[in-house]
Amino acid sequence: MEKDQVQAGMRVAIVGAGMAGASCARMLSEAGCQVTVFDKSRGVGGRMTTRRVDWTDAAGVTRQASFDHGAPCFEVSDPDFAAFLAVPHAQGQIAPWPPASGAVGLAAAAVQASDVPGSVAHRQWLATPDMPALCRSLLAGLTVHTRQTVQSLQRKAGGWCVTLAEGGSFSGFDAVLLAIPPQQAAALLEPQQPDWAQQAAALTMLPDWTLMAISGAAGTSTATAVAEAARAVPVALPDSGPLAMIVCNDSKPGRTSLAGLTHWVAHASTAWSQAHLEESAEQVQQQLLRALDDWLGASVRWQYATVHRWRYATLQTACVTEADATARHYWDRATRLGVCGDAWGGGGVQGAWLSARALCTALLADQ
Ligand SMILES: Cc1cc2nc3c(=O)[nH]c(=O)nc-3n(C[C@H](O)[C@H](O)[C@H](O)COP(=O)(O)OP(=O)(O)OC[C@H]3O[C@@H](n4cnc5c(N)ncnc54)[C@H](O)[C@@H]3O)c2cc1C
Repeated sequence: MEKDQVQAGMRVAIVGAGMAGASCARMLSEAGCQVTVFDKSRGVGGRMTTRRVDWTDAAGVTRQASFDHGAPCFEVSDPDFAAFLAVPHAQGQIAPWPPASGAVGLAAAAVQASDVPGSVAHRQWLATPDMPALCRSLLAGLTVHTRQTVQSLQRKAGGWCVTLAEGGSFSGFDAVLLAIPPQQAAALLEPQQPDWAQQAAALTMLPDWTLMAISGAAGTSTATAVAEAARAVPVALPDSGPLAMIVCNDSKPGRTSLAGLTHWVAHASTAWSQAHLEESAEQVQQQLLRALDDWLGASVRWQYATVHRWRYATLQTACVTEADATARHYWDRATRLGVCGDAWGGGGVQGAWLSARALCTALLADQ
């Protein structure tokens, strides 16, 4: 995207600072646009996220822990996405994970060097030192307003106006891009583009109950056995029971680990998450800890545990029509309103990037 392709200083509001929004912001700012990004969360990254918690151990000492409780990693199969990742890879912002020998139940083809052209040949990657790092680097130096929920959009004589749930508004934008999950996008699109809103609402996102837990401390035979299991198997994909993926967070590159403690992130299967979606966090935590105990073959003395319910974690790819999959975005050149995100790009982090690129290409082609 050449700088002279774009109207000098075109002002673009981007709603969402996940992979799609951050990618739009970087691409458009490199093309000469003035971008302003809004995100309702405390930080950027969206579902590429890492939760930090303070917890108190048995001796009453306050400790800190972090868990990648959203996307554990992401798949790379598109040559252009692989080529884009070459720079973050060279700068140490992403790393291959899991290591080829460290996954149990993953098809070997999914974790070994593949036929993806370009320098990023490994199939699965994560951001380092935490999951939001890739989006943080894409957004570096740009105007980003976090903890700001966009409640409505109005098109006025002077351009688009973005109204915030927290109070106040920003106006004078030449274009607005929504880079948010379809259910949230549908609400903002309804008054502007009811057809798009209807299509977005029809895209199904699958839920994911996620357990974060700390085992330890070393010294007992159970704790030692559990720590050894974690070292031997950084990722497991059980094929039965409530859990679909068990990750030893400490096995990930760049993560801080605490001596004698093992940090786990365990994702319930889609079917289990759907069946238990409205249960209380306490009930779900109990059941998922028991499932993790069963998988470890030990009754672990858990030091800390919590759960997170993702109502809209990943795209149900079966709901995407062929037309959606090829278009990857919505763009209305008359009003300069656009939509992108994983749900339009085929799902996942790669889908979010592909969708963002398609939308930016459409916007810049209209200049
Ligand atoms: C548990 C889990 C496991 C996953 N596993 C994988 C995997 O293995 N591989 C893979 O590729 N992907 C995986 N994903 C999916 C991947 O994380 C997403 O596809 C990708 O990160 C989506 O990026 P996005 O920018 O489209 O949306 P998001 O990351 O959801 O970003 C949207 C942003 O918009 C903000 N927002 C929403 N509404 C508003 C509003 N009204 N105003 C302001 N801000 C708003 C949100 O706070 C969010 O930060 C997983 C996700 C989860 C949750």
